[in-house]
Amino acid sequence: MTEPDNTTNPPTVVAIDGPAASGKSSVARRLASALAIDYVNTGEMYRAVTWAALRDGVDIGSETAVAAWVATLDLDCRLKDGRSTILVEGEDPSARLSDDAVNRGVSWVARVPLVRQLLVECQRRLGREAPVVMEGRDIGSVVFPDTRFKFYIDASEEVRARRREAQGITDTVTMRDRMDSSRKNAPLMVADGACVIDSSELDLDQVVARVLQQLAAWNYPADLLQRATPVT
Ligand code: C5P
Repeated sequence: MTEPDNTTNPPTVVAIDGPAASGKSSVARRLASALAIDYVNTGEMYRAVTWAALRDGVDIGSETAVAAWVATLDLDCRLKDGRSTILVEGEDPSARLSDDAVNRGVSWVARVPLVRQLLVECQRRLGREAPVVMEGRDIGSVVFPDTRFKFYIDASEEVRARRREAQGITDTVTMRDRMDSSRKNAPLMVADGACVIDSSELDLDQVVARVLQQLAAWNYPADLLQRATPVT
């Protein structure tokens, strides 16, 4: 008899995918805190690599240039104090991850196969270390395709634009979504078996409540679910 393969299928990964400004980060953070497990933001990882590429003057329009550069990049991804962190060449880029230049460049860097390969390796390692809620674009489709717990959080384009504006963020959301959805490698998509939640008309508590209900229906481990505040 073959052993179950936990390499891409740790039993407790909750995958949360969706387009930019759909509210998935807030949902993922709140959910991880309700379940008292770790939160992994994979967008930050792509942003960190983009920040470093821009700093190093890499031509991010050239896949070949980005691939040659990233091959020797020292990336350190960990779980710390309940969430993922990333250091690039020993430096913490957190303060720069929402820079305009990073917003504009990240989808270019994220389309490069070697960048994705390196970051997906980090993400799988973190998902094996502890129960996590992991958010991104390809978590349910590529990073942990075998997890049972997949969500796709959506919202209308108007609502997403309004949310971004309210946060004071000028971002090329539509452009990024178009690039993220149309790239060859791991495009943004609804993963097989994912529960789709449209958050346009819902507040954060309502979305998290739906996610918790669905997790219970999928028999998410009861010991973790019991920690969550009861939802009505
Ligand atoms: O989630 P966030 O909007 O911060 O992600 C920034 C960008 O990183 C996305 O627009 C996408 O290009 C890339 N990304 C990705 N795959 C992920 C997470 C993010 O390609 N799993």
